[in-house]
Amino acid sequence: MGPIPVAIPALSNFGLTHLGTTGHAMADPPQPESAAMPIDATSPYDDSNIFARILRGEIPCSKVYEDEQALAFHDINPQAPTHILVIPKGAYVSWDDFSERASETEIAGFVRAIGRIARDQGLVAPGYRLLANVGQNSGQEVPHLHVHIFGGRGLGPMLAR
Ligand code: 5GP
Repeated sequence: MGPIPVAIPALSNFGLTHLGTTGHAMADPPQPESAAMPIDATSPYDDSNIFARILRGEIPCSKVYEDEQALAFHDINPQAPTHILVIPKGAYVSWDDFSERASETEIAGFVRAIGRIARDQGLVAPGYRLLANVGQNSGQEVPHLHVHIFGGRGLGPMLAR
């Protein structure tokens, strides 16, 4: 799994030049640095994704928290001393899909679970960061909504520059 798109030094973000619609040479825009292909957040939900399999118990996870609406577990490739993923139990591709289709109960339950996990982890006083990648430009790799909770150290700039 590739690094998250925060706090990554932007040393070689510009690739080959190409001709834009005006015919002038243009630099390629910075791309998220990721080994995996980013998902298309407009695609229908695919229940073979890795987090769906974790939810079904087909693949183990290092569980941090679970309730009716949410499951949280440690990221397999942590980018900070605390790196927890919180996922809704319902089948939602991304934050976009969730915010459009989820019920009030699911949304309230999910948001409250994220806050509670951060509090339980002692992250409020030192501070922490939430991140939800959506689709191509963000480098989202897993097509089931997940919110990253990062903490345990200073987290650097908000975005790669
Ligand atoms: P995204 O780039 O989609 O926002 O983040 C996906 C995250 O899922 C990555 O940080 C990656 O390390 C994590 N991840 C991918 N596969 C697994 C897995 O099987 N188990 C766990 N715990 N995390 C995973």
